[in-house]
Amino acid sequence: MKKDYFKNKNILILGAGISGISAAEVLSAQGANVTLSDTKEKKDLKSPIHILDTTSVNLSLGRQDENLLEKIDYLVLSPGISINIPLVKKAIEKNIPVISEIEAAYRLCEAKIIAVTGTNGKTTTTTLLGEMVKTTNKKVAVGGNIGIALSKEVIDIPQDGLVVAEISSYQLEGVSTFKPYISLILNITPDHIERHGSLENYQKTKERIFENQTDSDYIILNYDDEKTCEMKDRVKGKLIYFSRKENLENMNSIFVKDGKITISLDKTKTDICHIDDIKIRGNHNLENALAASVAAFLAGVTKENISCILKTFEGVEHRIEPTATINGVSYFNDSKATNPESTIKALESFPKNIILIAGGKDKNTDLDEFLNLVKERVDELILLGEAKERFYNEATKHNIKNIHQVTTFKEAVELAHKLAKEPQVVLLSPACASFDMFDNYEQRGEEFKKLVRSLA
Ligand code: ADP
Repeated sequence: MKKDYFKNKNILILGAGISGISAAEVLSAQGANVTLSDTKEKKDLKSPIHILDTTSVNLSLGRQDENLLEKIDYLVLSPGISINIPLVKKAIEKNIPVISEIEAAYRLCEAKIIAVTGTNGKTTTTTLLGEMVKTTNKKVAVGGNIGIALSKEVIDIPQDGLVVAEISSYQLEGVSTFKPYISLILNITPDHIERHGSLENYQKTKERIFENQTDSDYIILNYDDEKTCEMKDRVKGKLIYFSRKENLENMNSIFVKDGKITISLDKTKTDICHIDDIKIRGNHNLENALAASVAAFLAGVTKENISCILKTFEGVEHRIEPTATINGVSYFNDSKATNPESTIKALESFPKNIILIAGGKDKNTDLDEFLNLVKERVDELILLGEAKERFYNEATKHNIKNIHQVTTFKEAVELAHKLAKEPQVVLLSPACASFDMFDNYEQRGEEFKKLVRSLA
């Protein structure tokens, strides 16, 4: 039984966030002696630590010292904990195996795993793929970086079930035997360099998603993305490309020809549907749809079911989420767009007639490309939050007219409502973080939706 893997072992878990708490709960239920440690005091933790009140997990909060490592068989890291902190280095010196929460989940998991990583699009692709895979008769779990700890998700999935896992680069730092039977890398662009040291290291960490694969496994790579494409010589599993731009009919691939999505596997072609039938908007989402479709096909989902999910899947909350239609004007919540690159993706998803609500906590990033697109596609620009002055000054330099500065979110939504006429759309896509006015982007999106629905 794989579930006995950690029985009677002494395990120290670092980081009392969702992942750490879930891992503690699961490993303790599997018969391990678990200590959960965090440098924060209990009162300062935002996570639901009370879940552990009824378990035998020992809590060590407020400080972290070397004594914790005594008699420890495994050190399990939450995603937020870098392998470079002194306590982890000490554990490695003492030959204590150091593993991430997803490695622990893998060792408990009896089912096959499909793992999704990349800089952008992970949550959308994982969720979409999860919906597709659920159309099989198998028992399916969807988890990982998506807000549900993988260790908790895998535990009830039998050998003939399937696990779809969103995996971040942080989680890949602590893998050793993790071996998905399908791995998927969406794209690699500079991100999280402060944790990984360089773009090269970040890419190397992402590549660990396929390091234990063999030729009976699959690796799906983005043909249009330079960094993922160059991994082709290092992959171990059977290579499948996805491409939005190129006709790849002579390779094992999924691609678009004359607007039709086609899978080519071992020289057999399977048409899925027309790209206009996909419900989620934008080229970036077409890439996510292609990646999810081919992974689902490899996992045994029928082409009819893939097509049906593509036609009905509305996307993930706060990502160009359709909110309401009022007097012929559609409102979209894209609160997850916390930087200009993400807002660019949203603006590219609407040809024109956009009323854009932007601003929030400024990340002081370059705005040129974003504002060029605003000039081309946005009819009215409504600015708020800490960033509004800089955005206003930069926008005027780009000769953008019809700029409105407001103070509250309510004012922003009401002004958009007053200005908007069919066929315009109202889009909240802030290009900024939310922390000047909200706890997080989810809260900002909820506020937008509440205000819009009150207008309706
Ligand atoms: P992640 O989980 O990797 O953060 P999400 O699916 O939550 O990805 O999408 C977050 C944002 O990333 C979206 O709002 C969009 O702006 C952008 N995005 C999504 N998919 C892609 C993609 N395939 N390529 C580039 N950008 C994308």
